[in-house]
Amino acid sequence: MKPTIHSRLPDAGTTIFTKMSVLAQQYKAINLGQGFPDYPMDSRLIDAVSAAMVAGHNQYVHMNGLLTLRERIAEKAETLYGQPVNPDTEITITPGGTYAIYTALTAILQPGDEVIIFEPAYDSYLHNITINGAVPVRIPLMFPGYDIDWEKVLTAITPRTKAIIINSPHNPSGRVLTPADIGSLQKIVKDTGIFIISDEVYEHLIFDGLPHLSMLRYPELKERSFTCFSFGKVYHCTGWKMGYCIAPAAYMAEFRKVHQFNCFTCNSPIQYALADFLSNADAYLNLGADMQKRRDFLGDKMKGSPFEPLPSSGSYFQVYSYAGISDLPELEFAEWLTREVSVTTIPVSAFYKDATNNQVLRFCFAKNEETLSRAAERLVNFKF
Ligand code: GLN
Repeated sequence: MKPTIHSRLPDAGTTIFTKMSVLAQQYKAINLGQGFPDYPMDSRLIDAVSAAMVAGHNQYVHMNGLLTLRERIAEKAETLYGQPVNPDTEITITPGGTYAIYTALTAILQPGDEVIIFEPAYDSYLHNITINGAVPVRIPLMFPGYDIDWEKVLTAITPRTKAIIINSPHNPSGRVLTPADIGSLQKIVKDTGIFIISDEVYEHLIFDGLPHLSMLRYPELKERSFTCFSFGKVYHCTGWKMGYCIAPAAYMAEFRKVHQFNCFTCNSPIQYALADFLSNADAYLNLGADMQKRRDFLGDKMKGSPFEPLPSSGSYFQVYSYAGISDLPELEFAEWLTREVSVTTIPVSAFYKDATNNQVLRFCFAKNEETLSRAAERLVNFKF
């Protein structure tokens, strides 16, 4: 008799990002689907990694991450968000932001715990919760503004609520938290034992002069948060899979128990290079303006197309409505667009457990102008 797997994730298929990227390759389509830049990263950072390798930094660093890198991160976080972070006890370097979120959830969840997520939700959250035997409690963001209905959050809270996952700037909508959202969140979690898992991988990709309202700014939120970040999004190297998590020492100790028996420790030479590179604040402070230009460039080129943009205040992404074009559900329309128009996008329905359709697609504008122009040209001129 052969062994059989009783699936831990019976409802999970292949992620939409991989699916659409494979389809894009198959049809040689312009890929505005999966979120990654198509322009080169800073070659000085590549040189710094190679210098670290030549210098012999090729063995394990401490399981929590290279201390000098954690020190630079602590300085950066305090400068930007005004609260102290202890590099020794409160920061762990991880292989990417998604891993940090998974590890935080695995550290805190017991079977039967409930976790509030907002849909559309980044597609890993749901499965990170269910694989831990916990129960996702899904609250829809209000279409088309993707605002949070805090009344709904209040009524969703039960004695079993263990955590709320917050994501700002939001993937896929590009919405960012407002001071009113922070006020509501503070009120709701006050006097509860609810953790916050905050996905802030797009912290620097924020537009129109808006500030990033990190959990790290607010002592009463910070003290219950696992805040997750990504170097890939900051330095245009998503394939490096490097990120980190910040949490209060007692919670970080549990996070590290999970981390040490899974990844254990991350790529050493990259950590040496990042520790050097972080001292250049301009690289991340200018990111928002750069990405805003790309958003606006695509928006400009899309004028005259039948797609309607919804506002995006941050991230790599903007949602466009095709309600005036087709009645096809989002996945089918996105597949059609890849096959027939050679432009690949992501159906936002993939971010809902029940595949809610609002006739919208997510476009990634973290691309060079030539790519965006060619894609927009096709989208302005196609016939359905
Ligand atoms: N975060 C990226 C996105 O939203 C993709 C990451 C992935 O493919 N897992 O497109």
